[in-house]
Amino acid sequence: MYLKSIEVQGFKSFANKIVFDFHNGITGIVGPNGSGKSNVADAVRWVLGEQRVKQLRGGSMQDVIFAGTENRRPLSYAYVAITLDNGDHQLPIDYEEVTVSRRLYRSGESEYLINGAACRLKDINELFYDTGIGKEGYSIIGQGQIDRILSSRPEESRELFDEATGIVKFKRRKNTAQKK
Ligand code: ATP
Ligand code: MG
Repeated sequence: MYLKSIEVQGFKSFANKIVFDFHNGITGIVGPNGSGKSNVADAVRWVLGEQRVKQLRGGSMQDVIFAGTENRRPLSYAYVAITLDNGDHQLPIDYEEVTVSRRLYRSGESEYLINGAACRLKDINELFYDTGIGKEGYSIIGQGQIDRILSSRPEESRELFDEATGIVKFKRRKNTAQKK
């Protein structure tokens, strides 16, 4: 499994629709300060269901919507879609390619989709359990996060190892079963 593309439209500094295409290898994104490199990582976190505004470096969730510039009007919604190659079927879904997308309007209305079909955030979380890809996964290491991992409490490091070894879904099922 690997990330094939990221599509952004109206997300943070990306007013126009832009598609970043990736290959099964290493890609670097370079650019001057403030040109939007971190916004690309924010887009991936956001589409995976990030709800914590602070993690997205904003004051409210609507701050992810393109706010306009001197010569460009603000937009009414933010849209991000990521497409993953699922040729190895690591994601438990019967598709060779999986596109996860999220849209948010200024009114607060929002939607998540998996391969074009509306779904709940819970479905997206479940799709990525034990892959390391979820918004809590170790696949997105933000600035300052390495320090946090090294100095974190044992329970926090444990969560990371659980995710990496693939036992998160069993723990969640156990918790759900115990609640019933
Ligand atoms: P650095 O090298 O300093 O880390 P960077 O390339 O990571 O920079 P980002 O933090 O991704 O830069 O982008 C910051 C830019 O995004 C700022 O210019 C900011 O004005 C712009 N930006 C953030 N949110 C929005 C928004 N909602 N609408 C328009 N522009 C936005
Ligand atoms: Mg940055």
